[in-house]
Amino acid sequence: MLKSKRNIVILSGAGISAESGLGTFRDVGGLWDQYDISEVATPEAWEKNPELVLDFYNLRRKLVLEAEPNLAHECLVHLEKHFNVKIITQNIDDLHERSGSSEVLHLHGEIRKAQCSANEDEVLELAGSDLKIGELSSSGHQLRPHVVWFGEAVPRMYEAEKYVADADIFIVVGTSLNVYPAANLIYSCKKNCQKFIVDVNELTKVKFKNLTHLQGKATEKLPELVNALIQDSKS
Ligand code: NAD
Repeated sequence: MLKSKRNIVILSGAGISAESGLGTFRDVGGLWDQYDISEVATPEAWEKNPELVLDFYNLRRKLVLEAEPNLAHECLVHLEKHFNVKIITQNIDDLHERSGSSEVLHLHGEIRKAQCSANEDEVLELAGSDLKIGELSSSGHQLRPHVVWFGEAVPRMYEAEKYVADADIFIVVGTSLNVYPAANLIYSCKKNCQKFIVDVNELTKVKFKNLTHLQGKATEKLPELVNALIQDSKS
């Protein structure tokens, strides 16, 4: 008799894209060492200096367009043959999609899209890397980056919680778990869910039953974990 597929949910953060050349936020030399969050990633910053905000995200978008998925993104695609896989990412890059993953929920938005500054539901794909002052939505309002700024609600949080609650296996990769409410997702797991954390640093603050810490680079530890899970699903 065929075994039914188990559910795997992945929560990824900036660390999974670090080896694709995209800087993380909180590591030494990360983006928040170079920029002041309040000047570029808040609704107040947009009010005060929209050009600076657009410049910041235009540069992020350019770097994303130049980057390629790495082995950590790619190995997750192989899981789909053996498990029901859902990826929840805090990343605004599209490297999970470009590596071929089919179900990706972006908690904090997508850099390659823009939204109407007066209606967050009006979202459109951007053709190139730059979004400029004077580019308007169909209702005549300035377009802004389709990202969730600090201080804004996270519209897809409820959906993400439901994914995690259904997970048999939950893998956290490349996130410092410092940004809320995303970091709270780890508490939505059911009791017997198997949990893994892959990170170059040891995340000592997370202490659970059924939790395995795999310390190392995402491109090394995640493919090892994926292979082990696939072998296990065959036995
Ligand atoms: P963070 O910078 O707070 O944490 C990154 C984590 O990744 C750290 O725990 C670090 O130890 C780990 N890490 C670094 N390099 C790694 C590697 N090679 N392998 C494994 N782990 C590695 O980032 P976060 O927790 O994702 O913070 C959330 C916010 O960062 C989100 O809002 C997200 O939108 C934003 N962000 C996104 C991108 C992107 O889209 N690529 C880049 C930077 C920041």
